[in-house]
Amino acid sequence: MQVVKGRAVQGTILILDGAATNRIMLKVQLSSAYYHVVQTDRLDGVLALAQRTRPDLIVTAMTLPDGNAAALKRILSGDAMLADVPVIALAPQNDRSARLRALDSGIDDVLSHPVDDLLLQARIRSLIRARSSAEELRLHDGHSASNVLGFGEPQAGFAPSAPVAQVALLTQNAATAALWRVRLQPVLHHRLSTHQMHDIHALMSDPVPDAVVVELTGAAKESGLRLLADLRARAATCHIAIIAVVGNGDAQLAADALDRGAHDVMPGGFCAEELGLRLTTQLQHKASADRLRDSVRDGLRAAVRDPMTGLYNRRYALPRLDAIARQAAQSGASFALLLADLDHFKRINDRHGHPAGDAVLTEAARRLESCLRPGDLIARMGGEEFLIALPDTDPITASRTAAELCEQINCRPFAAPGVDMPIAMTISIGAVICHPDGKGRDCGDDCTADLIEQADRALYVAKNAGRNRISLFQPAA
Ligand code: GH3
Ligand code: MG
Ligand code: MG
Repeated sequence: MQVVKGRAVQGTILILDGAATNRIMLKVQLSSAYYHVVQTDRLDGVLALAQRTRPDLIVTAMTLPDGNAAALKRILSGDAMLADVPVIALAPQNDRSARLRALDSGIDDVLSHPVDDLLLQARIRSLIRARSSAEELRLHDGHSASNVLGFGEPQAGFAPSAPVAQVALLTQNAATAALWRVRLQPVLHHRLSTHQMHDIHALMSDPVPDAVVVELTGAAKESGLRLLADLRARAATCHIAIIAVVGNGDAQLAADALDRGAHDVMPGGFCAEELGLRLTTQLQHKASADRLRDSVRDGLRAAVRDPMTGLYNRRYALPRLDAIARQAAQSGASFALLLADLDHFKRINDRHGHPAGDAVLTEAARRLESCLRPGDLIARMGGEEFLIALPDTDPITASRTAAELCEQINCRPFAAPGVDMPIAMTISIGAVICHPDGKGRDCGDDCTADLIEQADRALYVAKNAGRNRISLFQPAA
């Protein structure tokens, strides 16, 4: 909910229509559905109005006193903040070729008079919802480490030569599927597969399609609607673009389909050209959202990893160690914390140069990691020091793992670029075993800070005792 002029509203809608009566009727309808409405009768001045009022969606008459809906779309596309504002065009009658032209120009939907109120409302909700999810993704991406630091890839936008996608046609019977496939193939360069409602498991198994076209007609409409919700609810299928083909101009069913999660509907039934245009738009939206999701994931990864060794960094390790300690407090199982520091590492840099030092560090990280179980934690805390946490580990297993870590480093020398003789290395480890009382008492932030300090004291002992060894922290008696 937004608040405009002290009133809670679902969003701002800009109405564009040359006829005052149409504007007034729409305004009444949309205001009562809790939208803030701004309006104008012509294209002239619409850019400034949209820049000032930042609409979430625009409803425009197909034909305006000084232009048309396609011209409006061109004006909006020149402004980065407005280019993706959804546009619904209202046409005076059901003119198929005008609708196809409008969809081709990037208009999101064309509804013809008399406009069904339920369908219009559901369309508005679904378009605003889709845009706000895309905006949220962009926001996360803008905050991702790689973009803040200026390494983000520029967004490719809607690539004209979209890659070939997998489109599944889901119909009541095989004959309909075959007909759709024959009609669609010439207008679409994507791969088509056909399925019937009952073979839904095959549809959801690998490879998951990029888009699904669902036939919603007849007796199976309830199961079809359930299927839409199901596709949107499952992790494996929630990003699939869904288009529902609704028969007999059933506006109520089309509205239900949008509310259950279809990205687009065809209330007038199957039409290959129109479905082709709608699929192209939905697949472009999906490709752009997939790119953003990948970029957010890469950004998150960059924020918690050390770029040189690929290990987790301190920022990730400390809260993760807290979580391991909390979990141990719940279960009562002991865990081990090790601090490992390469011995006399400074000499490598001094004798062989920094690049050789980097190569040794990277290889050492790889060798240490190879000794650990999947649930163990290893992080580079800085320089040549590593933190290793072993959940659910008793003292004997901890000592054995620590010995393996030492052995991995000293068992064979390290090759480095520009260095003839491989370099012998050793590592020292300070270890502490934590025995929680098993009563679920959380030891708090101080607990892990204390553990790190104890492991550090043990590491100091190992260094002083001659290096290349393990020292276990001994609590004072
Ligand atoms: P000790 O056995 O007591 O740990 O001796 P040390 O030489 O390993 O320890 P010291 O703390 O004196 O030196 C650590 C060196 O590690 C100094 C620093 O230049 C080097 N170092 C830290 N980070 C990096 C890195 O990313 N790459 C390289 N090549 N060297 C690094
Ligand atoms: Mg060192
Ligand atoms: Mg050190």
